[in-house]
This record gives sequence, structure tokens and C-alpha cells, in this order.
Amino acid sequence: MPVLRFDSVSKVYPGPRTALEAVSFAMDAGEMVFVTGHSGAGKSTLLRLIHLAERPSRGTVLFDDRNLASVRGSAIARHRRDVGVVFQNHQLLTDRSVADNVALPLVLRGMKRAEIGKRVRSILERVGLGGRERALPEQLSAGEQQRVGIARAIVAEPTLLIADEPTGNLDPSLSTEIMALFAALPERGTSVLVASHDIALVKRMKKRVLVLANGQLEDDIAPEDLADA
Ligand code: ADP
Repeated sequence: MPVLRFDSVSKVYPGPRTALEAVSFAMDAGEMVFVTGHSGAGKSTLLRLIHLAERPSRGTVLFDDRNLASVRGSAIARHRRDVGVVFQNHQLLTDRSVADNVALPLVLRGMKRAEIGKRVRSILERVGLGGRERALPEQLSAGEQQRVGIARAIVAEPTLLIADEPTGNLDPSLSTEIMALFAALPERGTSVLVASHDIALVKRMKKRVLVLANGQLEDDIAPEDLADA
């Protein structure tokens, strides 16, 4: 059962700039998929259509069996609960502790304090930040800050996690660790879609790869067809 389906999706920005052109693919629940391609290929745009930061110019995006064209108004916030988002610059609240940052999506859902505390501790353990709950983001390394961003994106157990260049600022060994965290999510019920231009890293992960070039889906490579990096 697909968790995500793009059906002939095009996006033209004012300019006019064609960012995506008739892109079609489906992603099954439980899959981890990479989107790669040159700078300007359309990777960010593809992700932005999923959490409704942008709307397609033509075509249909289906999430589970939800047609995103019909998600409007207050339904947008509800839709976004099902999609965890990790950004390159993690967008943490600088004056709030690690625990407060991670708790935010649960607070917004109105979850009880005791339950929030339990969930936040457990997720911080899982991303390797047990014991750093009270730290402020600026007291953490770049890799640790990215882990906080990931913890916040997955704490509410979204159906799909999307990440835009999540390792853009990290060295190769930290990048591999972050990718390993993502790779562990599908077995817990969260599918994962990661945009990255780091071809070597993407190849090492041995997952399905969608290749964008000038807004077109140029290739859709199965893990077993990836050449060794
Ligand atoms: P990538 O993430 O692969 O670098 P983007 O999706 O950011 O690619 O960009 C695809 C194309 O769309 C590029 O030509 C870019 O300049 C253009 N673009 C992206 N966002 C906007 C925008 N908000 N307004 C106008 N053009 C945009």
C-alpha cells in the first residue's frame, strides 16, 4: 500500500521556472527512499509539496489515500502531524532546552505532561542524547543539534519522515550515523524520504534512489542495482 504517490506532478514557479515536470512515482509504507540530483534539480520542491509548503501547478500528490489538493485550511495542520520534517539547519528554538524543543509537537497535540516527559526521554535515548535534556541547543555540536531536530521530527511517530539535505553540514562519519538513525525508522512504522546531493553517501546506504535532473525523474534505481560506492 503506497504511503505516497506523485501522479504527473509539475511545479512552475513565477519566473517562470519549471522546478518539476510530470514527476510520477509511488513509495510503499515501510520504504526508505533517497531523492538525489544536482543543485536546482527540484529535490526541495518535491519535498515541499508533501508537507504543503508548496502546491503543484499540475498533477496529484496522494498521501496514504489523502489527495493533498483537498487538504485546505485547518486540515493543513492536521496533515502536517503525519509528516515529520528534518531541515539542514534544524530550526531549533535557541532559548529552549533540548527537551522543550523535542516536546513541542506533543505539546501542540495537547498531550499530558507526564506522558510528554516519558516520550521525550525515550526518544532522546534512541538518538543518543540521553542525559542532554536540559542543555541549550548552542551547547551542542552540529551533529548533536541535528539529532535534536530528528528527535523532534519523529517524537510524534509520523507516517512519513522527510529530510532535506539532513547531513549538509556534517562530516562523513556523522553523516553515516545520522543516516543509520533514519534507516532504523521504517521497522517502527515511519517511512523515510531523504533528499541529498551526496551521491557517495546515498550509494552506501543501499536504498532505492530517485534521480532528478532539471525537474524530471530521470531514474528510479532499486537497491540491488546500485553500483558499489
Ligand atoms: P534542489 O533542492 O534540487 O536544489 P529546488 O527544488 O530548490 O532544487 O529548485 C528547483 C528549481 O526551482 C530551481 O531552478 C530553483 O531556482 C527554482 N526555485 C526553487 N524555489 C523557488 C521559488 N520559491 N521561487 C522561484 N524559483 C524557485
